[in-house]
Amino acid sequence: MHCPYCRHTDSRVVDSRTSEDGSSIRRRRQCPECGRRFTTVETTSLSVVKRSGVVEPFSRDKVVAGVRKACQGRPVSDDSLALLAQRVEETVRATGSAEIDAHDVGLAILGPLRELDEIAYLRFASVYQSFTTLEDFEAAISGLRADRLGESADEVAVVDPVA
Ligand SMILES: [Zn+2]
Repeated sequence: MHCPYCRHTDSRVVDSRTSEDGSSIRRRRQCPECGRRFTTVETTSLSVVKRSGVVEPFSRDKVVAGVRKACQGRPVSDDSLALLAQRVEETVRATGSAEIDAHDVGLAILGPLRELDEIAYLRFASVYQSFTTLEDFEAAISGLRADRLGESADEVAVVDPVA
């Protein structure tokens, strides 16, 4: 591995640590030329199989690009989009497979996007799950409403014992 500081063509591993879940390994390296240290992270490469059968590397940027379209005009920051993409990657990596269907990447986006912005979620879900009728939207909106009711019910349950 080349040194990122002086481009020396060799480096020495001084420490290796496997992450808690075993999905990655971090190596601390030192350049024998300039003496500076840097860290590399090794993970299995993750591929996405598109509906067309084309296989391409998983990319957080592509997740962000796809979600950003649904977020147009919504108060969603770049930071939240980056965080969402990170959660999506963690979710698909947690499946443990090296290849994942584009469909499953979309599924992994729905949950965190719903927490981020309900309108963007509806837009994304309508394209991704191919809503064709008003009833499809109604069902999705009812789902959101039901969850909200569920949340307030939880709050009541927390308050009750005190009273
Ligand atoms: Zn160096």
